[in-house]
Amino acid sequence: MTLASNLGFPRIGRQRELKFALEKFWSGELDEAGLQARAAELRATHWRLQQGLGISHVPGNDFALYDHVLDTACMVGAVPEGYGWSEGPVSLATVFALARGARGTEAERAAGIAAGSPALEMTKWFDTNYHYLVPQLARGQRFVLTGNQPLAMFREAQARNTRTRPVLLGPVSFLMLAKTVDGSDPLDLLDALLPVYAEILAQLAEAKAPWVQMDEPVLALDLSDKAKLAFALAYGRLAQGPAPELLLASYFGPLGGNLATVARLPVAGLHLDLVRGAGQLDDALAAVPASTWLSLGVVNGRNVWRTDLRAALATLQRVAAARGTRRLMVAPSCSLLHVPVDVEQEAGLDPELKGWLAFATQKLGEVALLARGLDEGEAAVAAALKDSDRAVQSRRDSARVHDPKVAARLASITPEMERRATPFAERRARQRTHVSLPAFPTTTIGSFPQTPEVRKARAALHRGSLAQPDYDQAIAGWIDEAVHWQEEVGLDVLVHGEFERNDMVQYFGEQMAGFAFTRHGWVQSYGSRCVAPPVIWGDVSRPQPMTVRWSAYAQSRTDRPVKGMLTGPVTMLQWSFVRDDQPRETVCRQIALALRDEVVDLEAAGIAIIQIDEPALREGLPLRRPDWPGYLDWAVASFRLCSSAVRDETQVHTHMCYSEFNDIMPAIAAMDADAISIETTRSRMELLDAFAQTAYPNEIGPGVWDIHSPRVPDAGEIAELLQRARQRLQDWQIWVNPDCGLKTRKWDEVRPALVNMVAAARQLRRGG
Ligand code: GLN
Ligand code: ZN
Repeated sequence: MTLASNLGFPRIGRQRELKFALEKFWSGELDEAGLQARAAELRATHWRLQQGLGISHVPGNDFALYDHVLDTACMVGAVPEGYGWSEGPVSLATVFALARGARGTEAERAAGIAAGSPALEMTKWFDTNYHYLVPQLARGQRFVLTGNQPLAMFREAQARNTRTRPVLLGPVSFLMLAKTVDGSDPLDLLDALLPVYAEILAQLAEAKAPWVQMDEPVLALDLSDKAKLAFALAYGRLAQGPAPELLLASYFGPLGGNLATVARLPVAGLHLDLVRGAGQLDDALAAVPASTWLSLGVVNGRNVWRTDLRAALATLQRVAAARGTRRLMVAPSCSLLHVPVDVEQEAGLDPELKGWLAFATQKLGEVALLARGLDEGEAAVAAALKDSDRAVQSRRDSARVHDPKVAARLASITPEMERRATPFAERRARQRTHVSLPAFPTTTIGSFPQTPEVRKARAALHRGSLAQPDYDQAIAGWIDEAVHWQEEVGLDVLVHGEFERNDMVQYFGEQMAGFAFTRHGWVQSYGSRCVAPPVIWGDVSRPQPMTVRWSAYAQSRTDRPVKGMLTGPVTMLQWSFVRDDQPRETVCRQIALALRDEVVDLEAAGIAIIQIDEPALREGLPLRRPDWPGYLDWAVASFRLCSSAVRDETQVHTHMCYSEFNDIMPAIAAMDADAISIETTRSRMELLDAFAQTAYPNEIGPGVWDIHSPRVPDAGEIAELLQRARQRLQDWQIWVNPDCGLKTRKWDEVRPALVNMVAAARQLRRGG
């Protein structure tokens, strides 16, 4: 019989219960027992729900209070010094200190956590918007089992009559996701780590857990020979001891060159991502022995669309024809951590659109149905197949999805539309006569503090307790203050402050056709932080100008140039759930065309400098290197498409934070923005090396104030950073600005920091 299975369920809860419990715990309103009780309740709810939907392999230990990679590190005793752990179980105080940094609480003192211990580094989980904490290891690291959490979770579920399949982050992925403090290769620690995994598995076998899911997502990357050997060694070793059946789970892409390694491993089963790795099926069928279970990930765990059930069933039938159904599982392509919980909560959503969507709960229904369809034949699930066909059909034919005007415009894009009319050097000369600027011009990245006042006004507008004209008046007032204040401080290029924007993607998405927004479509970004990405469901266009009003207003209040401020096409795409019925590239170009109109309108309204933010350009890079050039081509082309319709004298800026540039410099230069601002304070300008080494031709604003910290830098240290920038760049290239927007900072940090920034720039101009 085909097994309906799941790889992981969203932890946060349908009403973000985990978020609120964590926040209460951190603020002292809830004690540890209370927090654990709520977490246990959530787990029980999720197990029951999945069982009820007909899932026979329900994942266990997929839950984490903050992050599953952190939990794994703690479980194997990879806790750096200073966090109050030396042996035995790892306390909750230690876990949260590692996650968020020491806060100076009583609990931390009691646990022996050193004051000021910083949080572990956080980074993106592959190419998702989930962030994990990077385990910190060192040469000669010792590992011990501090507590068998997978076992505890297995027992907890058992006590509630659910037999779960414990999920572990596999040893090779764990090491490859970690970093060492001494630059040694974490994979060298495999020998030391394996006994701990063996012990965990032995205890699970003893508790009669039939299966364990070993997540090895690094299998979606191009692996070195050493990493491939590590797989052989690790799973060979684990096969020697007592252990449940192991399901080795790969996801986020095809196995590619790792298939040969994986197919030979002594594991009971293998999970394949057949959404992102649809093309790997035939090779896998040929390579994987018939005695191995196959878990077929045919339901997309990364996106929100309903599955085309007939197509998915056909894939499953193909596998069944080749190897029978005795050792088959049907599953989502990856853990459902990356999608919201339940679309049924979206009462306000357009009913037609809603009929096309599936969140975690609906996706598991699809999984169960497909397993049944495979076992009992199409007739047994005929009604559901018909229903799915109808959804597929209505989406394909919907006049609300397909806008012929957008298609025609897309088809008429010419190469000229994707480049500025004149080379940078000439443009620059015209730009400097159009707007005169001193050497080392000063500016900011766009947003000013979103104070409680600003948020309150927006909430009141939404509730209907504040009328639109009154809201607008408030916005105008804040802009007036901001403009006046920036003049006083002596900034050279002003911004309007983005007070009217709730979020840099949502603000634009709400004004574009083709975007929809959910009420409860939350997904975990990190710890208690959730985001509700917009859904791009139709052809994108811009019915009317989106930012001209406030930018023009701000410009009307001053003689100095005010920068227009837009979110770029790649970032809009990257931070949304994107329709799956056409290439991402097409959607990106549609957004670019809409933004192009906005850029032209801003220019016509007298805005001489327009910044198009692309902080997500780098994170859109595919997981495998050979796929990079294809992506970068259309990403850069989209940026150029939206930015190239302006006259020479109009300056285009872009902004990218938290990016590394080393390996993508040609693409950054190819964007041909007249100026780019980046985040360089923490690296003390080292990020600029890539720009220096490749002789980046245009202007650059290396950030001189780390806006992630409440610390106000003084003029001396800013000047010192700028001197370091001058060692790497030509003086004429350099702009002076903070690392990023200031919306999360407070005015009493922003004011002195910008005063100091302007002072530092003036010092440089005087030759200091
Ligand atoms: N213009 C935006 C701001 O200042 C940029 C935000 C970002 O880069 N993440 O807030
Ligand atoms: Zn930024």
